[in-house]
Amino acid sequence: MFLSVFDLFKIGIGPSSSHTMGPMLAAARFLDALRSGAERVPGSGAPAALACRLHGSLAFTGRGHATDRAVVLGLAGFRPDTLDPDRAEQALARIAASGRIAPPGLPEMAFDPARDIHFDYGPPLPLHPNGMVLAARDAAGNAVLEETYYSVGGGFVVTAREFGREDPAAQPDLPHPFTDAAGLLSIAERTGLSIAAIQRANEVAARGAPEAGLDRIWAVMSACIDRGLAADGELPGGLKVRRRAGAIHRKLLAERGSNLAPPHAGNDWLSAYAMAVNEENAAGGQVVTAPTNGAAGVVPAVIRYWLDHVPGASRRGVRDFLLTAAAIGGIIKRNASISGAEVGCQGEVGSAAAMAAAGFCAVMGGSPAQVENAAEIALEHHLGMTCDPVRGLVQIPCIERNGMGAIKAVAAASLALRGDGRHAVPLDVCIETMRQTGQDMDHRYKETSLGGLAVNLPEC
Ligand code: SF4
Repeated sequence: MFLSVFDLFKIGIGPSSSHTMGPMLAAARFLDALRSGAERVPGSGAPAALACRLHGSLAFTGRGHATDRAVVLGLAGFRPDTLDPDRAEQALARIAASGRIAPPGLPEMAFDPARDIHFDYGPPLPLHPNGMVLAARDAAGNAVLEETYYSVGGGFVVTAREFGREDPAAQPDLPHPFTDAAGLLSIAERTGLSIAAIQRANEVAARGAPEAGLDRIWAVMSACIDRGLAADGELPGGLKVRRRAGAIHRKLLAERGSNLAPPHAGNDWLSAYAMAVNEENAAGGQVVTAPTNGAAGVVPAVIRYWLDHVPGASRRGVRDFLLTAAAIGGIIKRNASISGAEVGCQGEVGSAAAMAAAGFCAVMGGSPAQVENAAEIALEHHLGMTCDPVRGLVQIPCIERNGMGAIKAVAAASLALRGDGRHAVPLDVCIETMRQTGQDMDHRYKETSLGGLAVNLPEC
């Protein structure tokens, strides 16, 4: 399966790509299926009522991740990439008050979110920890359409029928197909192309020239950093977590150029940028998956750090950064996972750090072998990292963790640039190790909030 840079970097809303964006997109797909009528139960009447059942991690941490809210908005016709927050709030209030919903192109139906969204705390659905079932019934109570969706991380959604299946007919004809890092490196060696150029050529064949879209992705990422740095106050959700990125940034600005700035201040700049994004994400603001919402701060932080603190950086180089990062993220998603519910946080912040390390190494002049080395170092030192968000909110440990991921990404790229690309652990071996580690990880540490910090941190 070809994974485009725009599959890995998607504009959406916080706080979670798998628990907010995915369920909203699943609801949109369900509406499309209802409108088309092709899969409706023969003999059923017009849809008159909707219901949703959330399973596994979507049930356990769904309230903290605003999954129920996302389902309501998706069923009301909203999409993450175009959502107008004011209109969304009005629609939520109207649906809660009336118990009815009127999606575009469909009749008004009964739907009371408090009654018709069910959190099922039993065993998860068989194919993935993030499962949900959407159902429509007619006025006589007969089933009109029922569909099971899996939100598999990073805002990707598949039905039960599509799960794990690749449709060869739907695959574009690519000039440089690759499925793993070894394949990518051999293309680079054979053609003399950079990893960014290889990914770009595939993008052109699959979707057309990516430049305008890449510039838009960076504009949204950059605006998200700026909004996060300008904001203060408490984040929603009841944990009383205060925004810190803005205050850190103001101190860094005051120290800049003076002898008050410590030699390691670069780490603080990276943390401030990353935390700004993840504080925006926790507040439900607009972010770009990179490759998920929970890990959305790492890649933008390293790009901003490069642009603002490294001589010779250029806006045009951001495109190569994103393309390189996407090539690495695609390999990880294909061969392991980017879902915290599937493999823990090593799959989210670990993958983001690998992508950022690769992008940073590339724009700093690294060879393809050094880029692969940078990604491997960053991922290797996230192996085993669990996902244990306190109260199911994407705040503790997620916000600070993105700062740490960005710091590790820069350190990994720097180490790789000091070598010649030869190293002991190939990236493909590291990715497979992450997959196996995730498989062995107890479910309490995979976005269920049943273990780790989620149970040991005293209630505030
Ligand atoms: S701990 Fe990591 S994987 Fe889990 S929600 Fe937070 S950022 Fe995502």
